Order: sequence, then structure tokens, then C-alpha cells
Amino acid sequence: MRFVSTRGGVAATSLDAALAAGLAPDGGLYVPESVPVADVAAVGAPLAQTAAVLLAPYFAQSRLHEQLDDICRIAFDFPAPLRPLASTEAYLLELFHGPTAAFKDYAARFLAECLARLRDPAAPATTILVATSGDTGAAVGAAFHRRPGFNVAILYPQGRVSPRQAHGLECFGDNVRAYRVAGTFDDCQRLVKQALTDEALRARVALGSANSISLGRLLPQAAYYAQAALQFHAAHGERLNFIVPTGNLGNALAGWLARRMGLPIGDIVLASNANDVLPRYFAGADYAPHPTVATLANAMDVGAPSNFERLRWWHPDDAALRAALRADSVDDAQIRDTIRTAPQRHGVVPCPHTAVGLRALERLRDAGDARPWAVVATAHAAKFDSIVEPLVGHAVAPPPALADWLARPAHGQSLAADYDALRAALLRPSP
Ligand SMILES: *Cc1c(COP(=O)(O)O)cnc(C)c1O
Repeated sequence: MRFVSTRGGVAATSLDAALAAGLAPDGGLYVPESVPVADVAAVGAPLAQTAAVLLAPYFAQSRLHEQLDDICRIAFDFPAPLRPLASTEAYLLELFHGPTAAFKDYAARFLAECLARLRDPAAPATTILVATSGDTGAAVGAAFHRRPGFNVAILYPQGRVSPRQAHGLECFGDNVRAYRVAGTFDDCQRLVKQALTDEALRARVALGSANSISLGRLLPQAAYYAQAALQFHAAHGERLNFIVPTGNLGNALAGWLARRMGLPIGDIVLASNANDVLPRYFAGADYAPHPTVATLANAMDVGAPSNFERLRWWHPDDAALRAALRADSVDDAQIRDTIRTAPQRHGVVPCPHTAVGLRALERLRDAGDARPWAVVATAHAAKFDSIVEPLVGHAVAPPPALADWLARPAHGQSLAADYDALRAALLRPSP
């Protein structure tokens, strides 16, 4: 299996080169030359085994081929249960049982495991740069924490993440540094991009990225869709449909990929917050990225979803693309209302992102859709305590793994939203 760029400007390359590069040299995103059909009969019960079977064709020529089972066993060592909701024929696919209580743990741990095994042990340490509006930074920090050969620099916008999220970004220490940037998430992203393209800096420090455009983050996410759909199909003889709270489209695209690989997945609905570039496109408008709007579901505050470029590459025709997926948009007032009513209506306390998905489910039901749906629960409500607790009227305890991290002291440093400041910070010797 070889990998090509969505922009067609570079030769097909190996998985290992694509993983190491992140972004293709022509600025495009790497995609597999073709999508293999999964060996569904070989897929087993533990999530790690599903992942290994599903990913094997992509790793056929990789140096990591023989190690794929081990990589999956380490990365997928916490479950992704499909929990029935109080309403009939609806489920929550709970992806928040990892160390930082969000779905990004699966892919961050998988990518970290791959990069660690691909790196030359004699090379100087690589600093992984990550701009985050909350969950990515924590997942990447946890995945690389105390990993030999790697440092992590997390940049997050000061005052724009919940206090508990901020603590979750600053709790690592050791080889993981967290910078509170006096600016917006877009400033953080701009600073990271500037560093990654600064050749003079890169001659002095080895830099890497772990953002959501990496193939090493996209591919492994197909595993939990496969697992849930197969489990549901075995029990009910029917395809399971998914509603995916969506920002950069990485998670939902992995669901689409699982369906394309032959898994029994029905419709996929992209549930956006007020950043509604995808719902507008799927309703027939031109694709028109816009500046990001801040919402309660902050990990989905994306005005230009990066993985749209991959979707487009797979569906050059707009009509075909619009037939492949559906999309819906939910505003902050509706998010609040859904969080407030979810305990009664669905029997769960959702995070603001999951609430976007639940609202999309309620609309489908109101429109008479009686099919089985799984709403993807992308994070645990306790991560967003300052939003959720006043709405449901009681405290929401963090899951044990997150509680362990939160018990550690914070080690953040403040940073001006200024490239010279970042550059100087990156040139300071690591601990
Ligand atoms: C990152 C994130 C999303 C959005 O996922 P994409 O892959 O960017 O579409 C949704 N919910 C939570 C909690 C997240 O952390």
C-alpha cells in the first residue's frame, strides 16, 4: 500500500514516510492510494484486535508491520463501549475512557507508539509541537509523557479553555511543556505553523507535529466504528448509523473510511456547532470556510475543517459527496438545553460536544426516523464541569484516569502571542 497527496504534487510514498512527514511536501494531506476491503471475518472482540486486523493492509509494507499487534494492544488498551440510551434504538459510543477522557487518546497513543518505533535512536530528541483548543494537547501530552527521544510543547489560548481543561494541559511536567498563549487558538496555530516552516530553527531543534491531519491519527480511529458496527450487526442483523460531533472532520472521516472498507455502517451524520460550514455545504451551498466562532463545544470550533480536503479527494463530484454524508448544526442555546434535558430524556450527562450529537438525534426522531443510531460521545462531561454542572444541577466526577492526572500540580508557563517568544522558548534546553 502506498500513499499519495490530495494535491497530487508528490510521488506516492510509503506509510512510514507519510507518518513521519505529517503533511505532504506539496501542502496536501496523505491518503491511501486505494481503500482496502477489511477482512471482517478475522475481526475479534477486543478493540485492539479489531484495530490490528483493520489496519494491517495499510501497514503491509511498513517497517512496523510485524509490530502492529503490539502497537494496537498498547494504544487501544481501554474500551469503547456501546451503551444503550434510555430512548429506544439509540446508543452512545463512549470514546472517553482513555487517560485524558476524550476520543483523541486513541489516535494520539497510536501515533506516539508508531513514531517512537520509527525514530532513529541515535537522533537528537524531537519536539512535538501542538496547538490546541483543549483536548488534542492533553491527549498528545499524555501519549508522549516520559517517552525517551521526545519533548512536547503544547500551546493553548489562555482563558479560553475550562479551568479543568487548563489543568489537564499543564499537569504533565517532565518532557511536556504547556504554554498559555496570550491570544486565540488561531494565534496558537499560526505560531506552530511558523515554527514548523522555519528552516533555520529546524536546523537547531528537531520538530515534529501530531495534529489531526496526520494519517497516524486518522487511520486508527476507524477501529471503534468497526467494532461497534460489527457488534451491533451480530446482535440485530442491521447496519448501525452514526452521528459524529465534528470539527476538523477527522473522527467522522474515520467512520466513513470504516464504511468504505466494508463494515456494516449505515448513514453518517456530521453534527457541527455554530461553525456550520459543513451543514451549509451538505445543504447545497458552495464550500465556504469562515473565521472560527467560539462556542460551548470548543473542540469543534473550526471554520475550515482540514479533513474536508480528503473527503473531496475521494469524491471529486459534489453530488457524490453530498450523497455520502449528512450534516446538521446546533447552536449554544440548543447545546445548553440538550445538556439540561439529557439526564431525563436519554439517561446520560453529556459533554457539550456530545450534546451536539444528541440534539441531532432528537431532530432525526422528530422527523420520524426510527432507525438505530449511535451518537459518538467524544469526551467525558467532567472535562467541561464549568459548563455542565450548573445545567444539570450537580457535580460530575471525573473518571479515575483523568482524576489521577488532575491530582498532579500544574506546570504551565505564559507566552506572548509572538513568534520570537516561541522561538526562544523552543531553543531553551529541555529539562
Ligand atoms: C476534537 C474533538 C471533536 C472534533 O473532532 P474532529 O475529528 O476534529 O472532527 C469533537 N469533540 C471533542 C470532545 C473533541 O475533542
